[in-house]
Amino acid sequence: MLIAKNDLHAALKKYFGFNKFKGLQEAVVESILSGNHTFVIMPTGGGKSLCYQLPALMQEGTAIVVSPLIALMKNQVDAIRGVSKEDGIAHVLNSSLNKTEIKQVKEDIVNGVTKLLYVAPESLTKDENVEFLRSVKISFMAIDEAHCISEWGHDFRPEYRNLRHIIKRIGDNIPIIGLTATATPKVQEDIIKNLGITGANTFKASFNRPNLYYEVRPKTKAVDADIIRFIKQNEGKSGIVYCLSRKRVEELAQVLQVNGINAVPYHAGLDAKTRSSHQDKFLMEDVDVVVATIAFGMGIDKPDVRFVIHHDIPKSIESYYQETGRAGRDGGEGHCLAFYSYKDIEKLEKFMSGKPVAEQEIGHALLQEVIAFAETSISRRKFILHYFGEEFDNDTGEGGDMDDNVRYPKKQTEAKDDVKVLLEIIRDTNEKYKSKDLVNVIIGKENALINSHKTNEQPFFGKGKDKDKKHWMALLRQVLIAGYLKKDIETYGVIKIVEEGKKFIDSPISFMMTEDHVFEGE
Ligand code: ADP
Repeated sequence: MLIAKNDLHAALKKYFGFNKFKGLQEAVVESILSGNHTFVIMPTGGGKSLCYQLPALMQEGTAIVVSPLIALMKNQVDAIRGVSKEDGIAHVLNSSLNKTEIKQVKEDIVNGVTKLLYVAPESLTKDENVEFLRSVKISFMAIDEAHCISEWGHDFRPEYRNLRHIIKRIGDNIPIIGLTATATPKVQEDIIKNLGITGANTFKASFNRPNLYYEVRPKTKAVDADIIRFIKQNEGKSGIVYCLSRKRVEELAQVLQVNGINAVPYHAGLDAKTRSSHQDKFLMEDVDVVVATIAFGMGIDKPDVRFVIHHDIPKSIESYYQETGRAGRDGGEGHCLAFYSYKDIEKLEKFMSGKPVAEQEIGHALLQEVIAFAETSISRRKFILHYFGEEFDNDTGEGGDMDDNVRYPKKQTEAKDDVKVLLEIIRDTNEKYKSKDLVNVIIGKENALINSHKTNEQPFFGKGKDKDKKHWMALLRQVLIAGYLKKDIETYGVIKIVEEGKKFIDSPISFMMTEDHVFEGE
Protein backbone atom coordinates (compact mmCIF):
# COMPACT_ATOMS: atom_id res chain seq x y z
CA MET A 1 0.00 0.00 0.00
CA LEU A 2 1.55 3.29 -1.08
CA ILE A 3 0.73 6.17 1.19
CA ALA A 4 2.01 9.70 0.86
CA LYS A 5 3.85 11.13 3.86
CA ASN A 6 1.19 13.80 4.22
CA ASP A 7 -1.49 11.15 4.52
CA LEU A 8 0.45 9.33 7.21
CA HIS A 9 0.78 12.48 9.25
CA ALA A 10 -2.87 13.32 8.69
CA ALA A 11 -3.83 9.85 9.92
CA LEU A 12 -1.57 10.19 12.96
CA LYS A 13 -3.26 13.46 13.80
CA LYS A 14 -6.74 12.18 13.09
CA TYR A 15 -6.55 8.98 15.12
CA PHE A 16 -4.14 9.90 17.91
CA GLY A 17 -3.96 13.67 17.91
CA PHE A 18 -0.15 13.62 17.67
CA ASN A 19 1.72 15.98 15.38
CA LYS A 20 4.90 13.98 15.01
CA PHE A 21 5.99 10.38 14.96
CA LYS A 22 8.25 9.28 17.76
CA GLY A 23 11.61 7.70 16.91
CA LEU A 24 11.27 4.93 14.37
CA GLN A 25 7.47 4.84 14.33
CA GLU A 26 7.02 6.29 10.86
CA ALA A 27 9.41 3.84 9.23
CA VAL A 28 7.72 0.94 11.04
CA VAL A 29 4.26 2.07 9.97
CA GLU A 30 5.44 2.33 6.36
CA SER A 31 6.94 -1.13 6.51
CA ILE A 32 3.70 -2.62 7.81
CA LEU A 33 1.55 -0.75 5.30
CA SER A 34 3.74 -2.17 2.54
CA GLY A 35 2.87 -5.66 3.72
CA ASN A 36 6.31 -6.64 5.00
CA HIS A 37 7.15 -8.89 7.90
CA THR A 38 8.43 -6.42 10.46
CA PHE A 39 10.34 -6.73 13.70
CA VAL A 40 10.26 -3.87 16.19
CA ILE A 41 12.56 -3.66 19.19
CA MET A 42 11.91 -0.61 21.30
CA PRO A 43 12.30 -0.02 25.01
CA THR A 44 9.19 0.30 27.11
CA GLY A 45 7.60 3.67 26.53
CA GLY A 46 9.08 3.86 23.05
CA GLY A 47 5.63 3.93 21.50
CA LYS A 48 5.31 0.41 20.12
CA SER A 49 1.51 0.20 20.21
CA LEU A 50 1.04 2.99 17.72
CA CYS A 51 3.35 1.16 15.29
CA TYR A 52 0.67 -1.43 14.63
CA GLN A 53 -2.45 0.46 15.68
CA LEU A 54 -2.09 3.17 13.07
CA PRO A 55 -1.59 0.86 10.07
CA ALA A 56 -4.44 -1.31 11.36
CA LEU A 57 -6.76 1.69 11.44
CA MET A 58 -5.66 2.78 7.96
CA GLN A 59 -6.06 -0.58 6.26
CA GLU A 60 -8.87 -2.76 5.11
CA GLY A 61 -9.54 -5.86 7.18
CA THR A 62 -8.79 -6.69 10.81
CA ALA A 63 -5.36 -6.78 12.42
CA ILE A 64 -4.97 -9.51 15.01
CA VAL A 65 -2.91 -8.50 18.00
CA VAL A 66 -1.58 -11.30 20.18
CA SER A 67 -0.90 -10.12 23.70
CA PRO A 68 -0.14 -12.10 26.84
CA LEU A 69 -2.13 -10.16 29.39
CA ILE A 70 -5.86 -9.66 29.48
CA ALA A 71 -5.53 -6.50 31.57
CA LEU A 72 -3.19 -4.94 29.01
CA MET A 73 -5.52 -5.83 26.17
CA LYS A 74 -8.44 -4.15 27.90
CA ASN A 75 -6.44 -0.93 28.38
CA GLN A 76 -5.44 -0.87 24.75
CA VAL A 77 -8.95 -1.52 23.50
CA ASP A 78 -10.34 1.24 25.70
CA ALA A 79 -7.69 3.64 24.45
CA ILE A 80 -8.47 2.90 20.80
CA ARG A 81 -12.21 3.18 21.34
CA GLY A 82 -11.53 6.50 23.03
CA VAL A 83 -9.78 7.93 19.99
CA SER A 84 -12.23 6.65 17.41
CA LYS A 85 -15.53 6.99 19.31
CA GLU A 86 -16.62 3.74 17.66
CA ASP A 87 -16.87 0.78 20.00
CA GLY A 88 -16.65 -1.89 17.35
CA ILE A 89 -13.32 -0.61 16.07
CA ALA A 90 -11.36 -2.66 18.60
CA HIS A 91 -12.32 -5.83 20.38
CA VAL A 92 -10.90 -8.42 22.69
CA LEU A 93 -11.57 -12.07 21.96
CA ASN A 94 -11.02 -14.23 25.00
CA SER A 95 -12.60 -16.68 27.35
CA SER A 96 -14.18 -13.96 29.48
CA LEU A 97 -16.78 -13.11 26.81
CA ASN A 98 -20.30 -14.57 26.86
CA LYS A 99 -22.08 -15.92 23.76
CA THR A 100 -23.83 -12.64 22.93
CA GLU A 101 -20.58 -10.72 23.20
CA ILE A 102 -18.78 -13.19 20.96
CA LYS A 103 -21.54 -12.88 18.39
CA GLN A 104 -21.16 -9.09 18.43
CA VAL A 105 -17.39 -9.28 17.99
CA LYS A 106 -17.74 -11.62 15.04
CA GLU A 107 -20.40 -9.49 13.43
CA ASP A 108 -18.26 -6.38 13.69
CA ILE A 109 -15.33 -8.20 12.13
CA VAL A 110 -17.41 -9.60 9.27
CA ASN A 111 -18.86 -6.15 8.62
CA GLY A 112 -15.41 -4.64 8.37
CA VAL A 113 -15.92 -2.40 11.40
CA THR A 114 -13.25 -3.96 13.59
CA LYS A 115 -9.73 -2.88 12.79
CA LEU A 116 -7.98 -4.36 15.82
CA LEU A 117 -8.73 -7.67 17.46
CA TYR A 118 -6.77 -8.46 20.62
CA VAL A 119 -6.40 -12.13 21.47
CA ALA A 120 -4.50 -14.16 24.00
CA PRO A 121 -2.45 -16.97 22.48
CA GLU A 122 -4.67 -19.55 24.22
CA SER A 123 -7.76 -18.20 22.46
CA LEU A 124 -6.01 -18.22 19.15
CA THR A 125 -5.35 -21.95 19.39
CA LYS A 126 -9.06 -22.77 19.63
CA ASP A 127 -10.25 -24.42 16.41
CA GLU A 128 -13.48 -22.48 16.22
CA ASN A 129 -11.57 -19.19 16.35
CA VAL A 130 -9.07 -20.28 13.74
CA GLU A 131 -11.94 -21.35 11.46
CA PHE A 132 -13.67 -18.04 11.91
CA LEU A 133 -10.53 -15.97 11.32
CA ARG A 134 -9.78 -17.95 8.14
CA SER A 135 -13.03 -16.71 6.72
CA VAL A 136 -12.46 -12.99 7.19
CA LYS A 137 -9.96 -10.47 5.87
CA ILE A 138 -6.92 -10.16 8.10
CA SER A 139 -4.64 -7.17 7.44
CA PHE A 140 -1.72 -8.46 9.52
CA MET A 141 -0.79 -10.22 12.75
CA ALA A 142 1.02 -8.31 15.46
CA ILE A 143 2.74 -10.32 18.15
CA ASP A 144 3.14 -8.03 21.13
CA GLU A 145 5.65 -8.91 23.87
CA ALA A 146 7.24 -11.25 21.33
CA HIS A 147 10.05 -12.15 23.76
CA CYS A 148 7.55 -14.53 25.38
CA ILE A 149 8.56 -16.87 22.53
CA SER A 150 12.08 -17.27 23.88
CA GLU A 151 13.27 -19.23 26.85
CA TRP A 152 15.95 -16.57 27.11
CA GLY A 153 13.33 -13.87 27.53
CA HIS A 154 12.20 -12.91 31.00
CA ASP A 155 8.67 -14.14 30.49
CA PHE A 156 8.66 -17.36 28.50
CA ARG A 157 5.21 -18.63 27.50
CA PRO A 158 5.07 -22.00 25.78
CA GLU A 159 1.81 -21.09 23.97
CA TYR A 160 3.74 -18.45 22.04
CA ARG A 161 5.75 -21.20 20.41
CA ASN A 162 2.79 -22.38 18.30
CA LEU A 163 1.91 -19.01 16.91
CA ARG A 164 3.67 -19.53 13.63
CA HIS A 165 1.63 -22.65 12.82
CA ILE A 166 -1.61 -21.04 13.85
CA ILE A 167 -0.93 -18.00 11.70
CA LYS A 168 -0.28 -20.35 8.77
CA ARG A 169 -3.66 -21.98 9.36
CA ILE A 170 -5.40 -18.62 9.40
CA GLY A 171 -3.88 -17.52 6.13
CA ASP A 172 -0.85 -18.05 3.90
CA ASN A 173 0.44 -14.60 3.26
CA ILE A 174 -0.34 -12.71 6.38
CA PRO A 175 2.35 -10.17 7.26
CA ILE A 176 3.70 -10.76 10.76
CA ILE A 177 4.84 -7.98 13.05
CA GLY A 178 6.84 -8.93 16.15
CA LEU A 179 7.27 -6.33 18.88
CA THR A 180 9.33 -6.49 22.04
CA ALA A 181 11.14 -4.39 24.58
CA THR A 182 13.65 -7.15 25.30
CA ALA A 183 16.58 -6.92 23.08
CA THR A 184 19.35 -9.33 23.85
CA PRO A 185 20.75 -10.71 20.61
CA LYS A 186 19.74 -14.24 21.63
CA VAL A 187 16.09 -13.33 22.25
CA GLN A 188 15.96 -11.48 18.92
CA GLU A 189 17.29 -14.50 17.10
CA ASP A 190 14.73 -16.77 18.78
CA ILE A 191 11.85 -14.49 17.84
CA ILE A 192 12.84 -14.27 14.17
CA LYS A 193 13.36 -18.03 13.99
CA ASN A 194 10.19 -18.98 15.81
CA LEU A 195 7.92 -16.65 13.92
CA GLY A 196 9.56 -17.70 10.68
CA ILE A 197 10.20 -14.11 9.63
CA THR A 198 13.81 -14.28 8.46
CA GLY A 199 14.51 -11.19 6.43
CA ALA A 200 11.86 -9.15 8.24
CA ASN A 201 12.38 -5.39 8.20
CA THR A 202 13.95 -4.88 11.60
CA PHE A 203 13.76 -1.64 13.54
CA LYS A 204 15.73 -1.36 16.72
CA ALA A 205 15.60 1.75 18.82
CA SER A 206 18.39 2.59 21.22
CA PHE A 207 17.90 1.24 24.72
CA ASN A 208 19.74 4.12 26.25
CA ARG A 209 17.71 5.98 28.88
CA PRO A 210 19.87 9.05 29.35
CA ASN A 211 17.74 10.53 32.13
CA LEU A 212 18.10 7.51 34.41
CA TYR A 213 20.86 7.48 37.00
CA TYR A 214 22.06 3.97 37.89
CA GLU A 215 23.51 3.18 41.29
CA VAL A 216 24.29 -0.03 43.16
CA ARG A 217 25.02 -0.03 46.88
CA PRO A 218 26.07 -2.85 49.15
CA LYS A 219 23.16 -4.38 51.00
CA THR A 220 23.80 -4.56 54.69
CA LYS A 221 21.62 -5.25 57.72
CA ALA A 222 20.77 -1.57 57.69
CA VAL A 223 19.16 -1.70 54.26
CA ASP A 224 15.74 -0.58 55.55
CA ALA A 225 17.31 2.48 57.15
CA ASP A 226 19.19 3.20 53.93
CA ILE A 227 15.95 3.05 51.98
CA ILE A 228 14.14 5.30 54.45
CA ARG A 229 16.94 7.85 54.27
CA PHE A 230 16.89 7.81 50.48
CA ILE A 231 13.11 8.25 50.32
CA LYS A 232 13.21 11.09 52.86
CA GLN A 233 15.83 12.83 50.77
CA ASN A 234 13.36 12.57 47.90
CA GLU A 235 10.32 13.58 49.86
CA GLY A 236 7.10 14.06 47.95
CA LYS A 237 8.42 12.27 44.88
CA SER A 238 6.85 9.13 43.45
CA GLY A 239 8.80 5.93 43.66
CA ILE A 240 8.63 2.15 43.55
CA VAL A 241 10.53 -0.21 45.85
CA TYR A 242 10.83 -3.75 44.49
CA CYS A 243 11.25 -6.73 46.81
CA LEU A 244 11.53 -10.38 45.95
CA SER A 245 8.96 -11.80 48.34
CA ARG A 246 5.45 -10.83 49.34
CA LYS A 247 6.42 -11.09 52.99
CA ARG A 248 9.23 -8.57 52.58
CA VAL A 249 6.87 -6.27 50.68
CA GLU A 250 4.43 -6.29 53.61
CA GLU A 251 7.16 -5.79 56.20
CA LEU A 252 8.93 -3.01 54.38
CA ALA A 253 5.69 -1.15 53.57
CA GLN A 254 4.95 -1.17 57.29
CA VAL A 255 8.41 -0.02 58.24
CA LEU A 256 8.11 2.86 55.79
CA GLN A 257 4.66 3.81 57.10
CA VAL A 258 5.88 3.77 60.70
CA ASN A 259 8.63 6.12 59.60
CA GLY A 260 6.17 8.61 58.21
CA ILE A 261 6.43 7.64 54.57
CA ASN A 262 3.23 7.46 52.60
CA ALA A 263 3.63 3.93 51.24
CA VAL A 264 1.39 1.01 50.27
CA PRO A 265 2.18 -2.64 49.51
CA TYR A 266 1.38 -4.35 46.21
CA HIS A 267 1.71 -8.03 45.37
CA ALA A 268 -0.28 -10.84 43.79
CA GLY A 269 -1.32 -12.19 47.21
CA LEU A 270 -3.49 -9.16 47.93
CA ASP A 271 -7.09 -9.32 46.79
CA ALA A 272 -7.97 -7.63 43.51
CA LYS A 273 -9.79 -4.76 45.20
CA THR A 274 -6.86 -3.86 47.46
CA ARG A 275 -4.45 -4.15 44.56
CA SER A 276 -6.40 -1.86 42.31
CA SER A 277 -7.03 0.60 45.14
CA HIS A 278 -3.30 0.75 45.93
CA GLN A 279 -2.43 1.15 42.29
CA ASP A 280 -4.98 3.94 41.88
CA LYS A 281 -3.70 5.72 44.96
CA PHE A 282 -0.23 5.68 43.47
CA LEU A 283 -1.43 6.90 40.09
CA MET A 284 -3.54 9.65 41.71
CA GLU A 285 -0.62 10.65 43.97
CA ASP A 286 -2.47 9.85 47.17
CA VAL A 287 0.56 7.80 48.11
CA ASP A 288 4.18 8.46 47.23
CA VAL A 289 5.66 5.01 47.32
CA VAL A 290 4.57 1.53 46.29
CA VAL A 291 6.47 -1.35 47.82
CA ALA A 292 5.93 -4.20 45.41
CA THR A 293 6.87 -7.52 43.94
CA ILE A 294 7.39 -7.71 40.20
CA ALA A 295 3.60 -8.19 39.91
CA PHE A 296 3.48 -4.38 39.94
CA GLY A 297 4.32 -2.39 36.91
CA MET A 298 3.30 -4.23 33.77
CA GLY A 299 1.40 -1.67 31.77
CA ILE A 300 1.54 1.03 34.42
CA ASP A 301 2.06 4.30 32.67
CA LYS A 302 2.86 6.78 35.43
CA PRO A 303 5.19 9.21 33.73
CA ASP A 304 6.71 10.88 36.78
CA VAL A 305 8.09 7.99 38.82
CA ARG A 306 11.26 9.63 40.19
CA PHE A 307 12.97 6.60 41.68
CA VAL A 308 12.98 2.82 41.52
CA ILE A 309 14.69 1.03 44.37
CA HIS A 310 15.61 -2.64 44.24
CA HIS A 311 15.63 -3.93 47.79
CA ASP A 312 16.64 -7.27 46.25
CA ILE A 313 18.67 -7.62 43.10
CA PRO A 314 16.56 -8.98 40.19
CA LYS A 315 17.22 -12.29 38.51
CA SER A 316 18.31 -10.88 35.16
CA ILE A 317 19.51 -7.69 33.53
CA GLU A 318 16.30 -7.65 31.46
CA SER A 319 14.20 -7.57 34.61
CA TYR A 320 16.41 -4.86 36.08
CA TYR A 321 16.11 -2.83 32.90
CA GLN A 322 12.33 -3.28 32.70
CA GLU A 323 11.81 -2.39 36.33
CA THR A 324 14.15 0.59 36.42
CA GLY A 325 12.61 1.63 33.11
CA ARG A 326 9.45 2.62 34.96
CA ALA A 327 11.30 5.64 36.32
CA GLY A 328 11.49 8.90 34.44
CA ARG A 329 9.18 8.03 31.58
CA ASP A 330 8.44 11.73 31.18
CA GLY A 331 12.10 12.38 30.44
CA GLY A 332 12.71 13.91 33.88
CA GLU A 333 15.08 12.55 36.47
CA GLY A 334 14.89 8.90 37.48
CA HIS A 335 17.13 7.50 40.16
CA CYS A 336 17.63 3.73 40.01
CA LEU A 337 19.11 2.41 43.21
CA ALA A 338 19.77 -1.29 43.69
CA PHE A 339 20.98 -2.99 46.84
CA TYR A 340 23.23 -5.95 46.30
CA SER A 341 24.74 -8.69 48.36
CA TYR A 342 26.03 -12.02 47.17
CA LYS A 343 23.72 -13.75 49.62
CA ASP A 344 20.76 -12.63 47.54
CA ILE A 345 22.29 -14.28 44.50
CA GLU A 346 22.52 -17.51 46.47
CA LYS A 347 18.86 -17.17 47.34
CA LEU A 348 17.94 -16.75 43.70
CA GLU A 349 20.05 -19.78 42.85
CA LYS A 350 18.21 -21.82 45.43
CA PHE A 351 14.88 -20.92 43.81
CA MET A 352 16.12 -22.39 40.58
CA SER A 353 17.39 -25.64 42.00
CA GLY A 354 14.15 -27.58 41.48
CA LYS A 355 13.72 -26.51 37.86
CA PRO A 356 14.53 -28.52 34.70
CA VAL A 357 18.24 -28.53 33.86
CA ALA A 358 18.06 -26.35 30.74
CA GLU A 359 16.08 -23.76 32.63
CA GLN A 360 18.63 -23.83 35.44
CA GLU A 361 21.48 -23.31 32.99
CA ILE A 362 19.72 -20.31 31.49
CA GLY A 363 18.83 -18.93 34.90
CA HIS A 364 22.40 -19.36 36.04
CA ALA A 365 23.85 -17.65 32.96
CA LEU A 366 21.45 -14.72 33.45
CA LEU A 367 22.43 -14.46 37.11
CA GLN A 368 26.11 -14.32 36.22
CA GLU A 369 25.36 -11.17 34.26
CA VAL A 370 23.57 -9.69 37.24
CA ILE A 371 26.60 -10.37 39.46
CA ALA A 372 28.87 -8.84 36.86
CA PHE A 373 26.64 -5.78 36.62
CA ALA A 374 26.47 -5.29 40.37
CA GLU A 375 30.17 -5.76 40.98
CA THR A 376 31.52 -3.95 37.97
CA SER A 377 33.16 -0.59 38.32
CA ILE A 378 32.90 0.36 34.68
CA SER A 379 29.99 2.51 33.55
CA ARG A 380 26.70 0.79 34.34
CA ARG A 381 25.06 2.36 31.33
CA LYS A 382 27.80 1.00 29.10
CA PHE A 383 27.37 -2.42 30.70
CA ILE A 384 23.60 -2.53 30.17
CA LEU A 385 23.78 -1.32 26.60
CA HIS A 386 26.52 -3.81 25.78
CA TYR A 387 24.26 -6.51 27.16
CA PHE A 388 21.59 -5.41 24.69
CA GLY A 389 24.05 -5.52 21.82
CA GLU A 390 24.63 -1.77 21.69
CA GLU A 391 27.93 0.09 21.78
CA PHE A 392 28.06 3.10 24.06
CA ASP A 393 30.73 5.75 24.38
CA ASN A 394 30.54 7.57 27.71
CA ASP A 395 32.32 10.65 26.36
CA THR A 396 29.97 11.25 23.47
CA GLY A 397 26.81 9.30 24.35
CA GLU A 398 23.82 10.90 26.06
CA GLY A 399 23.73 10.28 29.79
CA GLY A 400 27.38 9.24 29.76
CA ASP A 401 27.95 10.52 33.30
CA MET A 402 24.74 9.23 34.80
CA ASP A 403 25.89 6.38 36.97
CA ASP A 404 27.77 5.90 40.20
CA ASN A 405 30.82 4.31 38.59
CA VAL A 406 31.34 7.18 36.19
CA ARG A 407 30.65 9.88 38.77
CA TYR A 408 32.89 8.33 41.39
CA PRO A 409 35.45 6.36 39.40
CA LYS A 410 37.82 3.91 40.98
CA LYS A 411 41.49 4.06 40.25
CA GLN A 412 42.56 2.46 36.99
CA THR A 413 45.67 0.46 36.39
CA GLU A 414 47.49 -0.70 33.27
CA ALA A 415 46.59 -4.33 32.61
CA LYS A 416 48.03 -4.90 29.15
CA ASP A 417 50.15 -7.85 30.25
CA ASP A 418 47.32 -9.48 32.13
CA VAL A 419 45.00 -9.17 29.15
CA LYS A 420 47.61 -10.96 27.08
CA VAL A 421 47.89 -13.77 29.65
CA LEU A 422 44.11 -14.11 29.71
CA LEU A 423 43.67 -14.18 25.95
CA GLU A 424 46.53 -16.63 25.45
CA ILE A 425 45.13 -19.02 28.00
CA ILE A 426 41.73 -18.91 26.34
CA ARG A 427 43.40 -19.65 23.02
CA ASP A 428 45.64 -22.38 24.43
CA THR A 429 42.74 -24.16 26.13
CA ASN A 430 40.89 -24.16 22.79
CA GLU A 431 38.14 -21.79 23.88
CA LYS A 432 36.18 -24.36 25.85
CA TYR A 433 35.73 -22.85 29.33
CA LYS A 434 33.20 -20.57 30.94
CA SER A 435 34.43 -17.63 33.02
CA LYS A 436 34.71 -19.41 36.36
CA ASP A 437 36.77 -22.32 35.05
CA LEU A 438 38.97 -20.02 33.02
CA VAL A 439 39.79 -18.03 36.10
CA ASN A 440 40.52 -21.28 37.94
CA VAL A 441 42.97 -22.26 35.20
CA ILE A 442 44.66 -18.87 35.44
CA ILE A 443 45.05 -18.97 39.22
CA GLY A 444 45.93 -22.66 39.17
CA LYS A 445 42.92 -24.05 41.01
CA GLU A 446 42.13 -27.61 40.05
CA ASN A 447 38.66 -29.06 39.69
CA ALA A 448 37.18 -32.19 38.13
CA LEU A 449 36.48 -30.57 34.77
CA ILE A 450 39.89 -28.97 34.46
CA ASN A 451 41.65 -32.15 35.50
CA SER A 452 39.61 -34.26 33.11
CA HIS A 453 41.10 -32.20 30.28
CA LYS A 454 44.55 -32.43 31.89
CA THR A 455 44.64 -28.66 31.73
CA ASN A 456 46.23 -28.76 35.20
CA GLU A 457 49.30 -30.33 33.62
CA GLN A 458 49.80 -27.55 31.09
CA PRO A 459 52.69 -25.10 31.49
CA PHE A 460 50.33 -22.13 31.58
CA PHE A 461 48.24 -23.57 34.44
CA GLY A 462 48.39 -21.06 37.31
CA LYS A 463 50.22 -18.48 35.21
CA GLY A 464 48.33 -15.67 36.94
CA LYS A 465 48.37 -16.99 40.49
CA ASP A 466 50.11 -13.87 41.82
CA LYS A 467 46.72 -12.14 41.54
CA ASP A 468 43.41 -13.28 42.98
CA LYS A 469 40.24 -14.64 41.47
CA LYS A 470 38.44 -11.36 41.87
CA HIS A 471 41.03 -9.51 39.82
CA TRP A 472 40.87 -11.99 36.95
CA MET A 473 37.09 -12.15 36.97
CA ALA A 474 36.90 -8.36 36.78
CA LEU A 475 39.46 -8.27 34.01
CA LEU A 476 37.67 -10.97 32.06
CA ARG A 477 34.39 -9.04 32.18
CA GLN A 478 36.07 -5.83 31.11
CA VAL A 479 37.84 -7.55 28.24
CA LEU A 480 34.47 -8.96 27.16
CA ILE A 481 32.88 -5.54 27.16
CA ALA A 482 35.84 -4.04 25.34
CA GLY A 483 35.02 -6.45 22.51
CA TYR A 484 38.02 -8.80 22.54
CA LEU A 485 35.97 -11.79 23.63
CA LYS A 486 32.43 -12.99 23.37
CA LYS A 487 30.24 -15.28 25.40
CA ASP A 488 28.77 -18.13 23.42
CA ILE A 489 25.11 -18.28 24.34
CA GLU A 490 24.29 -21.70 22.91
CA THR A 491 26.72 -23.22 25.41
CA TYR A 492 25.45 -21.03 28.25
CA GLY A 493 28.53 -18.88 28.41
CA VAL A 494 31.68 -20.51 27.02
CA ILE A 495 34.19 -17.73 26.30
CA LYS A 496 35.45 -17.33 22.73
CA ILE A 497 38.06 -14.98 21.27
CA VAL A 498 36.94 -12.68 18.48
CA GLU A 499 39.09 -11.13 15.74
CA GLU A 500 40.01 -8.07 17.83
CA GLY A 501 41.27 -10.36 20.59
CA LYS A 502 43.50 -12.28 18.21
CA LYS A 503 44.95 -8.98 17.03
CA PHE A 504 45.58 -8.00 20.64
CA ILE A 505 47.64 -11.16 21.25
CA ASP A 506 49.86 -10.33 18.26
CA SER A 507 50.28 -6.68 19.13
CA PRO A 508 49.09 -5.78 22.62
CA ILE A 509 47.97 -2.25 23.34
CA SER A 510 47.28 -0.36 26.55
CA PHE A 511 44.30 -1.65 28.56
CA MET A 512 43.23 0.33 31.61
CA MET A 513 41.26 -1.75 34.08
CA THR A 514 39.34 -0.86 37.21
CA GLU A 515 39.04 -3.32 40.06
CA ASP A 516 35.49 -4.45 40.79
CA HIS A 517 33.68 -3.31 43.90
CA VAL A 518 34.00 -5.53 46.92
CA PHE A 519 30.67 -6.38 48.49
CA GLU A 520 29.90 -7.79 51.86
CA GLY A 521 28.95 -11.44 52.15
CA GLU A 522 31.45 -12.94 49.72
P1 ADP B 1 5.43 0.86 24.61
O1 ADP B 1 4.31 -0.09 24.22
O2 ADP B 1 6.56 0.85 23.63
O3 ADP B 1 5.88 0.71 26.02
P2 ADP B 1 3.41 2.82 24.35
O4 ADP B 1 2.87 2.37 23.05
O5 ADP B 1 2.65 2.49 25.58
O6 ADP B 1 4.90 2.33 24.51
O7 ADP B 1 3.65 4.38 24.26
C1 ADP B 1 4.23 5.09 25.30
C2 ADP B 1 3.63 6.49 25.40
O8 ADP B 1 4.04 7.29 24.31
C3 ADP B 1 2.12 6.50 25.41
O9 ADP B 1 1.70 7.37 26.42
C4 ADP B 1 1.76 7.02 24.04
O10 ADP B 1 0.52 7.68 24.04
C5 ADP B 1 2.91 7.94 23.74
N1 ADP B 1 3.17 8.12 22.29
C6 ADP B 1 3.27 7.14 21.37
N2 ADP B 1 3.51 7.65 20.15
C7 ADP B 1 3.57 9.00 20.29
C8 ADP B 1 3.80 10.10 19.39
N3 ADP B 1 4.01 9.92 18.09
N4 ADP B 1 3.78 11.35 19.92
C9 ADP B 1 3.56 11.55 21.24
N5 ADP B 1 3.35 10.56 22.12
C10 ADP B 1 3.35 9.30 21.68
